[in-house]
This record gives sequence, C-alpha cells and structure tokens, in this order.
Amino acid sequence: MRLDVAILLATLLAAGVPAQGAQSTLDSGVQVRKPRLMLVPEAAVNQSAAQQYAQLKQQAAAKGVLNANAPAVARVRAVAARLIPQGARFNARAAQWPWEVNVIDAPAVNAFCMPGGKIVVFDGIIERLKLTDDELAAVMGHEIAHALLEHGRARMSEAVMKNVGINLAAAYFGLSNVGANALAQAADLAITLPYSRSHETDADLVGIELAARAGFDPRAAVSLWKKMAAVGSGQPPQFLSTHPGHTERIRQIEANLPRVLPLYVNAVASRQ
Ligand SMILES: [Zn+2]
Repeated sequence: MRLDVAILLATLLAAGVPAQGAQSTLDSGVQVRKPRLMLVPEAAVNQSAAQQYAQLKQQAAAKGVLNANAPAVARVRAVAARLIPQGARFNARAAQWPWEVNVIDAPAVNAFCMPGGKIVVFDGIIERLKLTDDELAAVMGHEIAHALLEHGRARMSEAVMKNVGINLAAAYFGLSNVGANALAQAADLAITLPYSRSHETDADLVGIELAARAGFDPRAAVSLWKKMAAVGSGQPPQFLSTHPGHTERIRQIEANLPRVLPLYVNAVASRQ
C-alpha cells in the first residue's frame, strides 16, 4: 500500500502535474500556481537554509566583504523594506520569517533569497549592471518571489527523492529516514541548480507584482533582463547560470505588465 503511494507520488513529481490543491493566489494581479507536493517540511528547509546563510555570512565577514559597501547596503535594505511587506498575499507565513538582508562586496553579478527570507545581494550586480532602484527592486522581487512560492522547498523535495534514494513512503509519512546530511545535500542542490522554467516564470510574475505594489516601476524588469543579457554575452554572470532564458522571459513579463501597472499607479499615488 505504501509502495503504491510512493509510486504515485514519484509519477506526479516526475510528470510535473500540478498537485491537488494547487491554487491561484490572487483575485487580481498576476496568476501563479504554488507547488503543493512538498515532501520536506518547511521548518527543515528554512533551518537548513538559515545554517547555510550563517556560514556564508561568516565567510564573507572573515574576508571583510560583509556589508562593507555602506551605500549599497542602505539601498538594498531600503528596497527590501518596501518589498517584503507585499509578500503576505503570496505566503501568509512569510510575515513571521526572520528576514535578513545582507550585501556582499564582491564583483559577482548575483543575488538570491534563500528559503525563509535570507537575502544576499552581491554589489557586483548593482555596479556592473548600473541598476536603478526600480531594477534593483526587480532583481530582489524576483528572488523574494522564489522564497515566497517555496521553490527551494520544492527543489529540495525533488532532490531528496532523486539523489538520496530514501524510502519515499517513509518520507511522505514523517521523514523519519531523511537525515541531516541528506537535507544538507538537497539544500546545496536546491541553491546551485537552475530553477525550472515554470518556477522562473512564476517568480518573474510575482516579482513584478511585489515591485508594483511597493511603488517600484515594474517595467524595470524588462530593462533589467536586457542589461543582464548584454552583460551575459561576454562572460555569463553567475546569476544567469541559475536563471536561464531571457527572450521568452521578457515576452512573458511584457504580457503581464498590464496586470500590475495599475497597482504601481495606485502605490505611487498613495506614497505621495
Ligand atoms: Zn529565478
């Protein structure tokens, strides 16, 4: 019986079929579906991410590059402070996450938001792409969206299944067989592997809505990806290795701008 459940789950995951209970998150704005088939508990994912984040901060601090660029830190934190409160409509639990926003002073064109709201922006992405605040909000909105939609948790769930060879039924009924090492390994994969195309699209759409609701011009997502493509034609930046495909991305963003531009207009009006 349990084996049947395991096979069914594996088939669903492999096929990428939307799980039962998948929902559209909004009555206005963009429409996305949140992954529902999550074998790894949120607490385990967030704890694993928090540990990795603490390690990363420690390493950066030891090299003297943690929050060393004060103007960049101020900009990034100001943008984050406006975006984060907009996340509740996509993930109610995010309001309780211990969000952290740190800037690493290094030339990498990279940024990410780990599960549970642990954000890192490399100031290389700001300086090399000469990002405006609206474009910075587009980068951060996209990354925050991955965390809100729990894409890391979905990838960890897949990684645990595919790479660790655990007893799937046991995982489904309580994760008793998933050790800390397996979770850490899965977390590594979840952070270094590219996101799937559908996760990317959903993060783009939720990202432009977060930005619009926070009063940032969502059209900046288009200029951001054009800049990213231009810098990527030489030596591809790290960000692009986990965020492939600009042409289709830009098309999707442009198609969805009419859904979020009214939110931007409202937000700007209420800020004045
Ligand atoms: Zn992404």
